[in-house]
Amino acid sequence: MNKVTDIAALARPEIRALKPYASARALADAAGILLNANENPYPPESDGGMALNRYPDPQPARLKARLAELYGTQPERLLITRGSDEGIDLLVRVFCRAGVDRVLICPPCFGMYALSARVQGAELIEAPLVECDGDWQAPADLVERAADCRIAFLCSPNNPTGNLLSSAVVEAVCAAMAGTGLVVIDEAYIEFAPETAMLDLQRRHANLVVLRTLSKAHALAGCRIGTVTADPVIIDLLRRIIAPYPLPTPSVAAAMHALTPTALERSRSLLAEMDAEKKRLCEAFRTMPAVGTLWPGAANFVLIRVDDGPGLVAAAMRSGIRLRDQSAQPALANCVRVTIGTPAENDALIAFLNRWTA
Ligand SMILES: *Cc1c(COP(=O)(O)O)cnc(C)c1O
Repeated sequence: MNKVTDIAALARPEIRALKPYASARALADAAGILLNANENPYPPESDGGMALNRYPDPQPARLKARLAELYGTQPERLLITRGSDEGIDLLVRVFCRAGVDRVLICPPCFGMYALSARVQGAELIEAPLVECDGDWQAPADLVERAADCRIAFLCSPNNPTGNLLSSAVVEAVCAAMAGTGLVVIDEAYIEFAPETAMLDLQRRHANLVVLRTLSKAHALAGCRIGTVTADPVIIDLLRRIIAPYPLPTPSVAAAMHALTPTALERSRSLLAEMDAEKKRLCEAFRTMPAVGTLWPGAANFVLIRVDDGPGLVAAAMRSGIRLRDQSAQPALANCVRVTIGTPAENDALIAFLNRWTA
């Protein structure tokens, strides 16, 4: 058996046997006289020429080609999803048998991995990150704990700790799970640390899946566009269970626009501004006695520990500033995650904190 066949064998038998729903737009293109999808032939008023009366292309080839080019991979290795959230859910539903397969997470981490695993009835195995010299690292027994899991969710830069994982660690997990499971690396914040991207490791590890999104650096959280990048065999399996028309026409149009050279140039300069703002915010935090620990991390947020995290979040709320309490996460008692805003928003936060700590 070659490697590719091995990967298909990891999917739930029901999914392997499934004949995907064939939507009208998947069976025939959207050219000519369209009498095959029970659509209204009249576009709604003022739809900006988007033909919103028509069902959208399930996987628009132009957007796929553009994303593949941006990420440095091939279109057949991509599935465009409703945000990375949907990618996480599809992976768990395709590969995890309820009550049988296990999912590994490294808390503190993004909550969707555990949620999707619980909904699917997959057992959660935790390999908590370790705090060390002001940064966070994968635990020494990560490989051992991942070895009998069907999916290991890793995240770099990680939310909410901001730490990076080394490619050596990711490769060791891939090797340990080869033939038995998938390693999913969530790169939602990779544009803030592009030199650490791990997509190229897919050349050596067929069981490595990479999640990307337009929600963070590309400023399109409202559009819900994410991508799963993986071996085409995995992409084919995920396509069997994705909703027939996951990508709304206006979202695809906005994504195409966000990926034009002019728009990318603008995002790059805004990323540079956010980076400078982050440095400024960190300097301010370091002068505040109330901020006990600061983890700057590699993304567009920082994590701080104070004496009373929930109290800080409530006081900020009363001043019109929303921060995210992380106290419910393991090892993050009284920790608060702060997103980098505009210079004016960051000024308001600093002014508030100086009043609060005074
Ligand atoms: C924000 C975030 C996502 C969510 O991405 P969407 O594409 O908006 O669904 C995924 N993973 C992590 C770690 C995140 O912080």
